[in-house]
Amino acid sequence: MNVPEGRYYRVVQDRPSTVQCGLCPHRCVLKQGTFGLCKVRQGFEGALALPFYGSISSISIDPIEKKPLYHFRPGSSIFSVGFVGCNLHCPFCQNWEISQKTDITFRSISPAELIKLAAESGTDAVAFTYSEPLVHIEYLLEALGEAKKRGLATVLVSNGCINEEPAKDVLSLTDAANIDLKSFRSDTYRNQLGGDLAAVCRFLELAREMNVHLEVTTLVVTGLNDSLAEAEGIVEFLSGLSPEIPWHLSAYHPAYRWHEGSTKPELLFQIKNLVRGRLSYVYLGNIWGETNQTLCSHCGKSLVERSGYHIETPGLELNEETKAYFCSHCGKPAPIYY
Ligand code: SF4
Ligand code: SF4
Repeated sequence: MNVPEGRYYRVVQDRPSTVQCGLCPHRCVLKQGTFGLCKVRQGFEGALALPFYGSISSISIDPIEKKPLYHFRPGSSIFSVGFVGCNLHCPFCQNWEISQKTDITFRSISPAELIKLAAESGTDAVAFTYSEPLVHIEYLLEALGEAKKRGLATVLVSNGCINEEPAKDVLSLTDAANIDLKSFRSDTYRNQLGGDLAAVCRFLELAREMNVHLEVTTLVVTGLNDSLAEAEGIVEFLSGLSPEIPWHLSAYHPAYRWHEGSTKPELLFQIKNLVRGRLSYVYLGNIWGETNQTLCSHCGKSLVERSGYHIETPGLELNEETKAYFCSHCGKPAPIYY
């Protein structure tokens, strides 16, 4: 085989030219030459082949708030990398041209070369984002390991829909993650998105257990997940993991195959009110006029203020020795991580 071989698969008994991928809950059975639902992992000569290994669709330097990560190195820039393909098929995908298609122009870059570029970019962190990084887990593990060696912080932006063993492998090399929790209904995940709610919830639990800094995003999509009952389910689950998890509630705008009207800002404010007292940090995205302040939980003064990607940190200080953020007004630890 001239292309790299994948991990997390088995040969199907009595059918030596057929393999079953065990990376995500789809557990695709791949005959010779066929691709899985993610369009990037292929059965080939009785093994799992990775013909898109190292195929990079985009590289950009972004504000870390764009991931979105609000409680990790606020105001910094991050070297951001995208692949192609995705194991979900969200009908509202805003990046469908790289997540649902593979016939685009790539750059082919090895993990070591990529991380060298990241280290030379003037940033001190690398994010895997845009499409779904986890379907390229073999590349990802190498790149994350390489980034660690060079002292770069590692960030994952993902749908979190993979099985437990690979989830542990990738989380062990991840410093911070923003994971989508797109719905709290198993049938919505299964029938509308092509995913698995239980796997995503387990991924979130593992991230907490493994001390990865975790933030969660829910795009509130008109006609899909926009009931208060569904928001209530998400809040119950997240607050059970930790009331300190930042939750990003984003407004949807029509994209790809979903043509319902945009999310009404009032609904996001209504959900934010519903959450009060159960999740400490709820931020609203894709709407105008929301400052998304972070307040000190001890003295109530403003630590961070955000206007789009313009960030001010009137009350946040970093102890350069310990790399711990604290409130400059009362001196208590801030809920922000380095
Ligand atoms: S990662 Fe891809 S090939 Fe593997 S089970 Fe999931 S969708 Fe199928
Ligand atoms: S998981 Fe993300 S990248 Fe994949 S289809 Fe859904 S929105 Fe698009």
